[in-house]
Amino acid sequence: MVNHTPCGQHRSTHSPLAQSRGLAARHSTRPDAPVLPSWTEEIHAIIGPAGGRPQKLAIGYDWDMIASDAASPPESQPRPSGADSPRFAKKKFLHDATEHVRDTGHREFVRKALGGYYTNRDLQKARFRDWEHARDAASLAKWSAVNRLDELLPRFVANFEANGGQVHWARDAEEARTIVLGLVRAARAKAVIKSKCMTSEEIHLNAALEGEGYGVVESDLGEFIQQLRGEPPYHFVFPCMHVRRDEISDLFGKHLGTPPTDSPEELTMIARRHMRRLYVDADIGITGANFLVAETGQISITENEGNARLTAALPRMHIAISGIEKVVEHLDDLAVLLPMLATAGAGQPLTCYNTLYAGPRRPGEVDGPDEMHLVLLDNSRTAILADPEQRDSLHCIRCGACLNVCPIFKNVGGFTYGTTYQGPIGSVITPHLRGLSDWNHLSGASSLCGACTDACPVRIDIAHHLLHNRRNAARTAPNALEKIGHRLFAMVASRPWLFGLGGAVFRSMLPLLKVLRPPLLRDWLASRDLQAAPRQSFRRQWEHHQPDEQTRPLEGRG
Ligand code: SF4
Repeated sequence: MVNHTPCGQHRSTHSPLAQSRGLAARHSTRPDAPVLPSWTEEIHAIIGPAGGRPQKLAIGYDWDMIASDAASPPESQPRPSGADSPRFAKKKFLHDATEHVRDTGHREFVRKALGGYYTNRDLQKARFRDWEHARDAASLAKWSAVNRLDELLPRFVANFEANGGQVHWARDAEEARTIVLGLVRAARAKAVIKSKCMTSEEIHLNAALEGEGYGVVESDLGEFIQQLRGEPPYHFVFPCMHVRRDEISDLFGKHLGTPPTDSPEELTMIARRHMRRLYVDADIGITGANFLVAETGQISITENEGNARLTAALPRMHIAISGIEKVVEHLDDLAVLLPMLATAGAGQPLTCYNTLYAGPRRPGEVDGPDEMHLVLLDNSRTAILADPEQRDSLHCIRCGACLNVCPIFKNVGGFTYGTTYQGPIGSVITPHLRGLSDWNHLSGASSLCGACTDACPVRIDIAHHLLHNRRNAARTAPNALEKIGHRLFAMVASRPWLFGLGGAVFRSMLPLLKVLRPPLLRDWLASRDLQAAPRQSFRRQWEHHQPDEQTRPLEGRG
């Protein structure tokens, strides 16, 4: 089976490209079966024995319980990224975290920026007849899809191709960049316009396109601001939430020559006026995808500004880039997932624009691209799929709710993580995407308070996953000092008399530690004050207040 792509590449078992990339056709008796690369066989192997494949949803949706009453929707320079230097990732994280924690102005700004979100989110949650039931349904929809990825991905691809779209499989970031660059070159494009697409951030696409001399413009207002600032997104839902309005006005003045303004509407209009011309001039529009609907072969994109619609519809070629985990089985699933995404992520009943894209323009249609391509990206997602403990982190719908409630994110800010996906879910998946040894420090960037787990609309137990990552990191790269420390603690804590003695010695040494500041405690003491120890230990106080024989510590009984 040979399939011609517009960049002149053949996706076939025998083509040089296929051989060099290890692509192989999955043979099928069906003549319309899609061509899949050999690595997708791994998905089948992973899920087959261990997945527990559901034939249908264990519970049906109870629409009355789920329904929201709000059913009617009211760089020319490379972008810096800490992710480029994993060797120094931990050092940089600790340095930046310390700086940002001290920056009370930044913390106050982030706190204020999120203030309205909490109110709106709670208001919208209250409009669901049963928010917890809706979480169950959303979680089940994603669980069902991820655990049948080997079946649903080919089904999506067959339907997408039947709609006239072309699918390209990318095993990693480099392959994805090569595919997109090949398409852009073959189209003899000059200008590329993008709507918000975190997978393109993940594969560092802008730098690759700009390196080949193609102009790339971000059409999402927040991303556009970040592009002008030469910064990556601060938050994967609110990319410029850390930027003040007067800073945006100055930025537009500097780059677009506009007069200063304090009006958010006027700032939006400045960006819109600038964009309109670029949509018409662009040859290629690049978008992400929120969901891939297997039963219809459609791509669902949800957005607030309408820029993704223009990006997909006006240029002659539309390229969407999506992780393979974005598949859902039914169109009905979106009726649960779209309101959950909007409510949890932005405190909205529904995001303003929800569009389903089903292939390029057909004869008789007035708009739409001549060609529509979808790059399906693995980039270690199959490795997460293979980890039964953490597989459900692939359920993430990138709503950003876990970032918004995370005390660590609110104190250290988005750039400190140095990753494409910030906050708690970023700390869970980044070690899988980029390597546990370089990124395991992120699993320590959590108070394990569980706010992220409570906020997650698809019920990912993020706090637990962070613990798994800590355990895995300790197993793969044990820290000798930590190991000795844990052994010593276990020895002391399991002997009450030794524990009591240790406590007494430590209490008597506290004033001395305060003055001497030994190297082991210096970092800890840099931002903390040692309080004076109470005259009596907790154990002694307990004994005095609980004279009852039954409640006394064992070794104190006669
Ligand atoms: S982990 Fe949950 S809360 Fe966090 S971004 Fe993903 S879906 Fe949203």
